[in-house]
Amino acid sequence: MPSHNLAYIKIDEMEIIGYSVAAEETVVAMPQLDVCFDIGKAPNQVISINNILLTHGHMDHAAGIAYYLSHRNFCGQSPGTILAPENLLGPMREIIDAWSRLDGNKIPANLVGVKAGDEYQIKPNLFTRVFPTKHSKGSVGYSVIEKRKKIKPEYATLTAPQIVELKKQNVEIDYPLEIPIVTYLGDTQYVDFSQLDYIAASKILIAECTFYIDEHADRALAGRHMHIGEFAQLVRKLNNQHIIVTHTTQRTPMSQIRRILKDEIPADIYDRIILLMDKRRK
Ligand SMILES: [Zn+2]
Repeated sequence: MPSHNLAYIKIDEMEIIGYSVAAEETVVAMPQLDVCFDIGKAPNQVISINNILLTHGHMDHAAGIAYYLSHRNFCGQSPGTILAPENLLGPMREIIDAWSRLDGNKIPANLVGVKAGDEYQIKPNLFTRVFPTKHSKGSVGYSVIEKRKKIKPEYATLTAPQIVELKKQNVEIDYPLEIPIVTYLGDTQYVDFSQLDYIAASKILIAECTFYIDEHADRALAGRHMHIGEFAQLVRKLNNQHIIVTHTTQRTPMSQIRRILKDEIPADIYDRIILLMDKRRK
């Protein structure tokens, strides 16, 4: 499948590659975390990523699942893991079976059904946590969280032999620390995501904001997407260092989107925003 040019963003050492235009295609990969949020039409650049985190079943977000699996199989790679809302697993299996029959080769798949509140381990210290969104039946978003153990302050000055001694005595000298790296909202209408502290504190927020002009407020409501007014309200409540805006509509030119964002959002927050599909960025 020919791949179009994907957008490329680098935040500190973290790379984000993707493409996201409403109704056309949405796929956002973070290779260092080995995750890809939604799969779009499975562009070649994301095939080697082992964990696909699917938010909902709309065609523009999920069309590439069979191609992703089939191409990995063709290249001798493992099937990887596709996390998806559990109500989608039946139809996903049917579509993979149908493609297996069309193709003449069984397509191996590892599908994991998820629901809000679930956690899934990606790497030894890296987990994804699933939360509910308001878009389609069972739709979810994902945060990727690093979990570390940190030594309790009262033991911070101990020497190595003293620590060994305490461990022998089964003394808990450390406590679990969670570092939310990124949150991906997928498609959703406004929800007060600040109620979930790991979303509010995520270093990077990847959020949809589909519609920008007043006349499109009805479209936002009907499609269960966010309108600029709601997006502005949401980002004010969160503390993310970087906000990547996805799922922009082609109904509004990028220069106008940029201008409206600047008008609607306080300058200190606007400075943290990157429009994924904006070739000019700022
Ligand atoms: Zn959708």
